[in-house]
Amino acid sequence: MKALSIRNLTKTYANGNQALKGIDLSVDAGDFYALLGPNGAGKTTAIGIVTSLVNKSSGEVEIFGHNIDRDIEAAKICIGLVPQEINLNLWEGVQDIVMNQAGYYGLGRKLAHERTEKYLRALRLWDRRKDVARSLSGGMKRRLMIARALVHEPRLLMLDEPTAGVDIEIRRSMWNFLTEINNAGTTIILTTHYLEEAESLCRHVAIIDDGTIIEDARMSTVLRKLQREVFVLSLSQALEQAPTLDGFETRVLPDCELEVAIGPGHTLNELFQQLSERHIDVVSLRNKANRLEELFMRLVQNNQGDGEEAA
Ligand code: ADP
Repeated sequence: MKALSIRNLTKTYANGNQALKGIDLSVDAGDFYALLGPNGAGKTTAIGIVTSLVNKSSGEVEIFGHNIDRDIEAAKICIGLVPQEINLNLWEGVQDIVMNQAGYYGLGRKLAHERTEKYLRALRLWDRRKDVARSLSGGMKRRLMIARALVHEPRLLMLDEPTAGVDIEIRRSMWNFLTEINNAGTTIILTTHYLEEAESLCRHVAIIDDGTIIEDARMSTVLRKLQREVFVLSLSQALEQAPTLDGFETRVLPDCELEVAIGPGHTLNELFQQLSERHIDVVSLRNKANRLEELFMRLVQNNQGDGEEAA
């Protein structure tokens, strides 16, 4: 069973912006799927169409077999949405917000109460149930939006940049929570800027760039394309020029740092051995945090390369 099936979906906004140029996506029930891409790629537009907030220009969308053109109410019931922007009524109480959403989906009062308590507890907001949303921290507001999206227990949860601006501790606890509900059977699709987030959570990933899907594969397959890893080494002494190392590209950075790209088949051990032979002392090392950009660049280049060959 497909949780989501999108065929040849296009969106051109009234100002002529072509946000989606004919995308196809297919998400299995039970999957944890990432829609990854740079700013302006079209991720929010795609989510907006699936959740009926944005009208598509053309194409087909089915949610658990319900076509959004013919069966919108049935499709909507299957979905819970956590939008990117905080869209809570800030003057409303925390518990009331979730209860009202339950009412919107037609849950009886008793069930609405049970579910509200269940999700507010799960998202560590039960103690704050009487407070108005305005008094919550940014991370709590985001968790409240997740509780609100889950109260009717949708089969498909869509989250648009769920952890943007959320600190690392809360981000990790949200990841754990999402993993739990996915394990319990909810299909999850999220958009993110962070490769690390997709890598930690998702089994499949579609990468979207400029309104086009440029990759749609298992996470492990996509990560294998990133064979070249880049590290930044902090050295005890500054180097005047980059050392020439066999199997590694090097570049001198300011502040006694050296950037090293490790090609396929080469190891950190070899790198350290060669550095030590040259009496270069390494104090610490970190992974260069641009793997996502590197992945985009690689995929976009490959795509352009394919296009040129085909032309
Ligand atoms: P993402 O979520 O990947 O950052 P969006 O779907 O928000 O991308 O945007 C895709 C493109 O559509 C961008 O060029 C953006 O400027 C444009 N866009 C988004 N919303 C609107 C709108 N309401 N009117 C016109 N253009 C829009």
